[in-house]
Amino acid sequence: MNRRHLHNLCALLGDDLDVERARDEYLASLDADEGLAVLLISDDEILTAATARPPVLRCERCAARLSRKRHRCSRCGLPH
Ligand SMILES: [Zn+2]
Repeated sequence: MNRRHLHNLCALLGDDLDVERARDEYLASLDADEGLAVLLISDDEILTAATARPPVLRCERCAARLSRKRHRCSRCGLPH
């Protein structure tokens, strides 16, 4: 449950890493009980989760986005 909120908050967090704005935006979409759970998540926790996301993998040859589950580029077939 907490992980889901954390994930959603990270998604709302823009490049400016404005936690308060993201939290306000997210709270507006929740009911009171869920809102309370979100208020209990610390700013640090949100920032840590947001900045710990791994960078998007891209194919060295064609720059297509690579899936972590597949071992070949879906566009050009380069193994990775
Ligand atoms: Zn490729």
